Amino acid sequence: MAVPLMQAVRVGRYVVKQHLIGRKRYPLVLMLEPLFRCNLACAGCGKIDYPAQLLNQRLSLQECLDADAECGAPVIAIAGGEPLLHKEMPEIVKALVARRKYIYLCTNALLLEKKLDDYEPSPFFSWDVHLDGDKMMHDSSVCQDGVFERATAAIRAAKARGFRVSINCTLFDGADPKRVAAFFDEVMAMGVDGVMTAPGYAYERAPDQEHFLNRQKTKQLFRDIFRLGKGKKWRFTQSPLFLNFLAGNENYHCTPWGKPLRTVFGWQRPCYLLGEGYAKSFRELMDDTAWDQYGTGAYEKCADCMVHSGYESTAVMDAVRRPWHIAKVALFGPETEKPMVPEISLANQRPAEYRYEQQVESQMSELASRKPARGPRVRVHKAAEADEVIADAAD
Ligand code: SF4
Repeated sequence: MAVPLMQAVRVGRYVVKQHLIGRKRYPLVLMLEPLFRCNLACAGCGKIDYPAQLLNQRLSLQECLDADAECGAPVIAIAGGEPLLHKEMPEIVKALVARRKYIYLCTNALLLEKKLDDYEPSPFFSWDVHLDGDKMMHDSSVCQDGVFERATAAIRAAKARGFRVSINCTLFDGADPKRVAAFFDEVMAMGVDGVMTAPGYAYERAPDQEHFLNRQKTKQLFRDIFRLGKGKKWRFTQSPLFLNFLAGNENYHCTPWGKPLRTVFGWQRPCYLLGEGYAKSFRELMDDTAWDQYGTGAYEKCADCMVHSGYESTAVMDAVRRPWHIAKVALFGPETEKPMVPEISLANQRPAEYRYEQQVESQMSELASRKPARGPRVRVHKAAEADEVIADAAD
């Protein structure tokens, strides 16, 4: 199974409980970004374009545990940046697993084989390896030759040691459905437990702005892929209704509070993809964010978004309301032939606001105000970390 039965039961029980107690907004997956620093610079990534001082910041073990305690979601996805560059990552994972949280550690896998001994297989822990398609597709996506080979070697090594491994496959404009379908066949044959897939979000800071999909192209692409997958046993870690949404069959609205993000800057508003501001606590994020101002149809920057950060929780909530519907889609797969549902109108969306420079300035001055208290020892430590990053990247 893409998701262990016990995990599905515990998460399902959590979701039903939220509905029974009448919580309007609740977290499903805590997204943790304990650092922005990465050892790749992918064309479609909008997360690593910060000054070095900010890239060198880390969430500590205690800050990660506090974020979990504040949020309370049953599942935690640890992303970045590249989490394996974080020296405390084994302790962070161990402590969260001890709390019986389901952990997905997202990695580009360049350091995975080297670091495997630091982790233990567990039904609560899964590697989530970034793989955007076959060798040519992935190496082009991450702008570096040889990454596909290293990532797939690491996946095989992790599977051989008994770890759960899923892959995270982001698709861009120009993806060929036949190649994607063949790639899904390939990873299934590799023994990967599940695939998480979505279109790339059009990050305003991504170096390549030419290859993001709009919603119409996204739906057609996923329909074409799912049609080729009929009768095959592809395992997805996502809700069947989210896949049905990707194929143009669900008229979902975004529920970004379902996957709240804690970064080194604080709790990001409104979602994993968009940094429009930061709250100091999870409660402040949930209570003081103007949620209605976001989502497709509400905000220009959300116009083409169909990413799981915003829509997977919607699909899960829909499953609770319409269990017969999810049962049908789970049994027969996403619809690929009937007309698609009408698209959300963009007529009343508010225009995009650009806040990147202002946020960087604010974070830099916040950092500067903290420095005297930390003293020179921290600067030595950060320099050592930077050296490791360079060594790891060259590895
Ligand atoms: S639609 Fe939702 S998930 Fe997508 S960018 Fe907007 S707020 Fe974020």
